[in-house]
Amino acid sequence: MTTGKQDTGRVIRICPIPAFNDNYIWLIEDGVHAAVVDPGQAQPVLDVLKQTKLSLVAILLTHHHHDHVGGVVEILQKHPALVYGPAFEVLPVCDFMLGQGDCVTIDKLGLCLNVLDVPGHTAGHIAYTGLVDTDSGTQPVLFCGDTLFVGGCGRLFEGTPAQMLSSLDQLAALPSETAVYCAHEYTLANLRFAKEADPNNHDLAAFEKACQAKRAANEPTVPSTIGTERRCNPFLRSRDPEVAESVKRWANKSLQTPVEIFGALREWKNGF
Ligand SMILES: [Zn+2]
Repeated sequence: MTTGKQDTGRVIRICPIPAFNDNYIWLIEDGVHAAVVDPGQAQPVLDVLKQTKLSLVAILLTHHHHDHVGGVVEILQKHPALVYGPAFEVLPVCDFMLGQGDCVTIDKLGLCLNVLDVPGHTAGHIAYTGLVDTDSGTQPVLFCGDTLFVGGCGRLFEGTPAQMLSSLDQLAALPSETAVYCAHEYTLANLRFAKEADPNNHDLAAFEKACQAKRAANEPTVPSTIGTERRCNPFLRSRDPEVAESVKRWANKSLQTPVEIFGALREWKNGF
């Protein structure tokens, strides 16, 4: 193995816990210990912990929105765990305040995740990335909250287009096989828009078919991979000449810089 990660023989599984209408709370577990990412609701997490008898050791938060942090206090009442979150956001509880370059080490799960600052959706949004040993080998993973979605990106509630473009550039630079664990099942709506912005993208057409089949079978479309997102997600492709041309046509004005094009693409999607 050339990943630089020590092989512990431990196998990690990452499963979605559905919450609200379309949120995914990600459960990271090794059969004994568990961590959850962005528990906006307590009950679905409490139910899973009860059924599986997993011992919760960590809660990872990406940003302050209620549908990502709303369950934290109630979960902690039954399962005392350490809470990790963005340093510059107001959170219900946070034991470790994190920013770019920090590492999260969860010994009981053999997890070591790097923290990335990805402002845009919120001002202090962070993402977690690292390698995990799954039953199919060592796998790079990304927990990106509401920054990058399958086929889309988060709305700019607190940040600027320049910030979001730079955040997405940082995520797009991760290894192409990185599994992208975002926090919502927005894929089919995102891909409907993606086809408008990038109509001649054959990878996108094939990916939409595959995602439609998954949803028809009631399966999640998440995770995708960074490689797929680079090929299919218009928000990672706003510098592509065809995508840029579509955006300019929609905006009906000359857009000069990548940031202007990205900002107009996001506005187009807001009204789509
Ligand atoms: Zn959010």
